[in-house]
Amino acid sequence: MYSVRKVMVNHVKLFHFIYKVLEKTLSLFNPLWRFMGYERADRLFVFFERNIKGFLFDCQMCGDCILDKTGLSCPMNCPKQMRNGPCGGVRFDGTCEVKPEMRCVWLEAWRGAKILQPETVVIPEILIQSPIDQRRKGKSSWLNKIRDDQDVKIKEPNNG
Ligand code: SF4
Repeated sequence: MYSVRKVMVNHVKLFHFIYKVLEKTLSLFNPLWRFMGYERADRLFVFFERNIKGFLFDCQMCGDCILDKTGLSCPMNCPKQMRNGPCGGVRFDGTCEVKPEMRCVWLEAWRGAKILQPETVVIPEILIQSPIDQRRKGKSSWLNKIRDDQDVKIKEPNNG
């Protein structure tokens, strides 16, 4: 819902904190998800993610969440699904050329990121994003992140 999305960006500090706590908590339970089997856990995660993030951020279940980099503005709500910044069609008042009733998701991303890190945020940090892995579409981005982090830990050389 667009009005809820705007509230999220307006109060990005609070909701970003809650988002990170939730993400961290879910990752602590990784042994449980592994025990359940990731395929089964994904169905559970998707149910909650689709409903909670769908309501709060109009999440489109891309499977590769970048909300924490984009000031809690979901870029997948761009009608052109621009993943690396705005197209050339932003109107002078900041609204979208396709959906004039909506502000450009990337202007909202910049606004949210500036509230979060007023001194240090730089445009490339927000705009340079890796391409989406379409195989992840419809899957839980929370669980994907937990599994990615786990893979990184396994690959890290043992310094001890
Ligand atoms: S998972 Fe993808 S579609 Fe959903 S909120 Fe995050 S970036 Fe947007």
